[in-house]
Amino acid sequence: MSGLHPVCPVCRGELAPTGEGGFSCTACGADFPSARGIPCLFPPETGDFWAESQRALEEFFGENPALSKALEAAPPETLNGADLSAKASLLRIQGRFREAVEVHEASWARCYPQEYRDSFQAQMDFITESLKSAVGPVLDIASGRGTLISQLLSQVEAPLIASDLSPTVLADYQASRWGEHLQSGRLGLMAFDAKNIPFEDGAVPVITTCLGLQNIPGPEAALRELRRVCGGTLYAMCMFFPEEDGVNHRAAAKVGLPGAFSLEQLRGMMERCGWQVRPEAGPWFQIQPTPEGEIAAGMRVDALPARETRCRFATLVCQ
Ligand SMILES: [Zn+2]
Repeated sequence: MSGLHPVCPVCRGELAPTGEGGFSCTACGADFPSARGIPCLFPPETGDFWAESQRALEEFFGENPALSKALEAAPPETLNGADLSAKASLLRIQGRFREAVEVHEASWARCYPQEYRDSFQAQMDFITESLKSAVGPVLDIASGRGTLISQLLSQVEAPLIASDLSPTVLADYQASRWGEHLQSGRLGLMAFDAKNIPFEDGAVPVITTCLGLQNIPGPEAALRELRRVCGGTLYAMCMFFPEEDGVNHRAAAKVGLPGAFSLEQLRGMMERCGWQVRPEAGPWFQIQPTPEGEIAAGMRVDALPARETRCRFATLVCQ
């Protein structure tokens, strides 16, 4: 798959394909089935948290048919960011994946100020530019809806692998859009836990992640594992709050991400895991919490920032 051969996440033994995209370990015998065509290379007891949260949303929409109808009927341009995000979820549940991608992008544009979006794009462009001469393969961690992968597919020649803990998010948002790239082997999709990556030591020349480190609770274990498999450079795009912003750092700790939004602390964590870190930081700008839904009352796109603050994006170039 895209020039990178996975190994068993349990014993690092050799994997043999079982058909329909699954694998079985030739050493310990563990089976790794595929979900909707995507190999799931984690121990079987690992849950699909995305699928679980999406099922909870599905139930919520089922129990609130008036709200679902109102979201469905409302023209996207009349909805705020949180309601657009709820509408995207509804479309996804209905299997309308391409529309869901579009509405999700509109939600993003409405949730965040221009400086945020420009700065975010500048970091993605920096990573893209850095990878133009890369041979690859490039492994993207916590790819989610595929924001970075989408840009790399159109501008970088190296083979790519999009990965996530959830095979469902990869299937819903990526497999549905990139059939041609999957067919040609230019793009691979793989579900695994970033704390237990199914590759041999030093096997992956380039790793990228777009806000992924700040979506993995207890990021230190993932940083150590990334260090183990990375034979070259890690480009980790992150968002940071000012060091003295106690309210937002405490809010991050509450959701399992202590220190993840502090450049000093995250950098320290990475250095303890053996990385040498060079931050390429963008400018500071002001940011408000994302809005609450008006139709989908109480829904919010992001838990952070918990209150108005300054923030900036940086790509940590790590070797
Ligand atoms: Zn094994």
